[in-house]
Amino acid sequence: MSRLLLVSNRLPVTVKLESGQVQVARSAGGLATGLSGPHEQSQGLWLGWPGDVTRLGPTQVADLESRLLDLRCVPLYLTAAEVNRFYEGFSNRVLWPLCHYMLDRIPLHSRDWEVYRRVNQRFADKVAEHHQPGDTIWVHDYQLMLVPRMLRERLPDARIGFFLHIPFPSSEVFRTLPWREEVLRGLLGADLVGFHTPSYVRHFATSLLRLLGLEVDGDEVHDEGRTVRLGAFPMGIDAREFERLAETPAVLAEAGNLRVRNPELKLVLGVDRLDYTKGIPRRLLSFERLLEREPSLRGKVRLIQVAVPSRTGVEDYARYREQVDELVGRINGTYGTVNHTPIHYLYRSIPQNTLVALYRGADVMYVTPLRDGMNLVAKEFVASRPDGDGVLVLSEFAGVAGELADALKVNPYDVEGMARALHEALHMPEAERRSRMGRMRARVLEHDVHRWVHGFLGALKAVTAPEEAPAARPATREELAALVSRLRKAPARVLLLDYDGTLVPLQPRPEMAAPTPELLSILGAVARVPGTFVHVVSGRPRTVLEEWLGQLPVGLHAEHGLWSRLSPDAPWEMIADLDLSWKPRALQLMRQYADRTPGALVEEKTASVAWHYRLADPEFGVQQARELRMHLAELFTASGLEVLPGNKIVELRPRGVHKGRIVERVRACTPADALLVAFGDDRTDEDLFAALPEGAVAVAVGQRPSRAKVRLRDPAAVLNLLRALH
Ligand code: UDP
Repeated sequence: MSRLLLVSNRLPVTVKLESGQVQVARSAGGLATGLSGPHEQSQGLWLGWPGDVTRLGPTQVADLESRLLDLRCVPLYLTAAEVNRFYEGFSNRVLWPLCHYMLDRIPLHSRDWEVYRRVNQRFADKVAEHHQPGDTIWVHDYQLMLVPRMLRERLPDARIGFFLHIPFPSSEVFRTLPWREEVLRGLLGADLVGFHTPSYVRHFATSLLRLLGLEVDGDEVHDEGRTVRLGAFPMGIDAREFERLAETPAVLAEAGNLRVRNPELKLVLGVDRLDYTKGIPRRLLSFERLLEREPSLRGKVRLIQVAVPSRTGVEDYARYREQVDELVGRINGTYGTVNHTPIHYLYRSIPQNTLVALYRGADVMYVTPLRDGMNLVAKEFVASRPDGDGVLVLSEFAGVAGELADALKVNPYDVEGMARALHEALHMPEAERRSRMGRMRARVLEHDVHRWVHGFLGALKAVTAPEEAPAARPATREELAALVSRLRKAPARVLLLDYDGTLVPLQPRPEMAAPTPELLSILGAVARVPGTFVHVVSGRPRTVLEEWLGQLPVGLHAEHGLWSRLSPDAPWEMIADLDLSWKPRALQLMRQYADRTPGALVEEKTASVAWHYRLADPEFGVQQARELRMHLAELFTASGLEVLPGNKIVELRPRGVHKGRIVERVRACTPADALLVAFGDDRTDEDLFAALPEGAVAVAVGQRPSRAKVRLRDPAAVLNLLRALH
C-alpha cells in the first residue's frame, strides 16, 4: 500500500492545556474515523492546522509536536491574521455562502483572496516537503482548493486526489466568483476530483466548459496534457458504531428518560451546527404552523432542537443566532403551558451518548437545510435505529436526499409544505415507518465511511500513474535544446507542420487565423536553410493555404492530405478519385444543425464537410455536436465515410483520407537520411504521428492527450523552436 498523505485545514485532533500539560486527543468525527485505518496502515501522514496554539510556550510546542508525531500528524501553524483572513475571511465568508447559493451573504468587497492563496501555497509547500516518490496525496475541502495545482507544479508525477465536502454550485452561481478560473485550475491539478453527488459533478463539469472551455468526456477532462477524472462519492458514516451505541444500556436508559413525565409525548428532533445553511428559522416556523393548524397536537408534541455553536467569530452567525433565539422564545411564549414547553432548544455541543439517545428516542428526525453538501446527521439517525422505527423528514436540497429515497422529502423554503410533512410523519402508520426505515438502514449501513474511503482511494489508484502516461508536461528547456541540436546535426531535416493551433493560435473564426508577417518570415527563413524541407499539413482548403502560404518555398497539403502541392511550382494533386455523391445530403443536415445553433457554421471542402461550433454557446454547442455526430454516423458510416470530432469541429470525410497519407509522398521526394519531425495539436494530427517512420519525432502542441513523446505549450513555443533552426 502506498503511503497516504492526508491534507485538511484542521488536523483530526483537539489540543488542550491542562495544568500546564499539553493534551492531544483524537477527534471522533466520521472523516477522522474513516481515514484512520488507511492512515495508520499505510504509515502515512496527516497535515493540517492543529488549532490555536499561540498560548503554548516553546517547550510545550516541542511536547505538542512529539505527541502529534506519535499520531503521524504534521502541524502547519496559522497566525491569528491567517485564521482571520484565510479561514474565516475567504473560506467561510466567501466560498461557504457561494457554494451554498447564498450570494447575499458574501461581503461586497472581499480582500482576503491573496491570503487564501498564500496559505494554500504554504500547505502545498509543507506537503511537498514531506512527499516521497510513490506517495498518494489526498487533499480535503473548500479551504484548500488551490493546493492540488500548487502541488502539481512542484511534484509533476505525484498521485493527487481532492474531495469537496460541500456542494459545488450551479455554474451560474459559481461564475459570480471573481477568482473562478483560478479555483477551477486549482482543482484540476488533481488526478481525481471527488464530490458527494452526481449533480455537483455536473455543475463542476459545466463550469469547466463555460469558464475554461474544457469539455468533459464521460468522467474525464484533459488539461495541459493531463487527464483529470471526476466522480461522485457520497460520503458515509461509521454506521456500525452508531448502531452499537444505540443498543448500549446507558443510551437506552437516556432515550427512555426523554418521555419519563409524559409517555405519550411525540418527539421531533433537529440537530445542526448553528449555520444559516441549515434552515432552522423556517423549520421553527413550520413547527409553529403545525401547532396552529392542529390544536389537538398542542401539549402532545415537542421539538428538541440542538444547535451546536459554530463560527462564532463571523457576524452573520451571531445575527442568525439572535433570529433563532427570538423565534424559539416567541413560539414557546405562544404555545407553552405551565406543564409543557413546545421547543426544547439546546445551544451547545452535546456528548455522543446523548446525541445517539436523542436519535434513538425521537419519533421524527427533522432535517431541513436550505443547502447541505451531504448532511451526516440524517445518516446517523438512521444508523441509530436498530429498532427499525422512526421517520426521517428530509430537505430535498441536502446531498443525502438522492441516497435516501424513503425519507419524506420537503422543500425547506415552503413552510406550509413542511408543516404538512410533519403532520404526515407524526401520523404515519407503523408498518410504513418500518418498511421505509428498513430500506434506508440497508443503504446507510452498507455505504458507510469505510466504503467511501476505499471507493475514493480505489478510483484514485485506478487513474493512470502520471509517470506511465506519455508526455504529460511541456518539454523542459534542456529537452528543447536537445531536440534543436538533433535537428541541426541531422544530415537533412523534414518539418511537417500543422497550421491551426500549431503555427497560429486557434481563432473564433477560421478566416481570422491568417499568418502574421513574422510567421511568414520564420517559415521562409527555415525553409531556405540547406537540407531543410518544410511542409504544412492542414485540414484547410487548397485556396486558403495557397493564398496565405503560396509564396513560400514550402510544400502544402490541404484537406487532411487529400490534396498535395509539393513545391510552389508544382500542381495540386489529389490522392484518389473519390465518390462525392453523399455531400449534398450531409451539407443539408449540417445546415439544419447550424440553423438551430446560433454561432455555428458549415464549411464545405472538396471531399469533406465540417461543422464549426467555436462561437456557439459552449454547452449547447457541445450538446448539438454530440447529436450531430451520432446523426452523421447513423446515416453515413455504412457508405465508407467517417465522422471526426476535432477542436470545436465535427467533420465528415471519406475513410482513408487523413494526414498520415502524406508521409510517404513527402519521403519519396526528400533525402532518405533526413530527420522527420511532425508538429500538431489535434486529433487529426494523431494520424500523421501514427504514420511516422521509426526515428522520427512527433511533437504535440497544447493540452490534448497525444501519442507524441514531446510536448510544446502553444504556437509561440513552436515559433521559438523554428527560430532556433535558422
Ligand atoms: N455533532 C457534534 N456535536 C453535537 C451534535 C452533532 O459533533 O453536539 C456532529 C454530528 O454527529 C454530525 C456532525 O456534527 O456528525 C454534523 O455533520 P453534518 O454533515 O450533518 O453537518 P455539517 O456540520 O458538516 O455542516
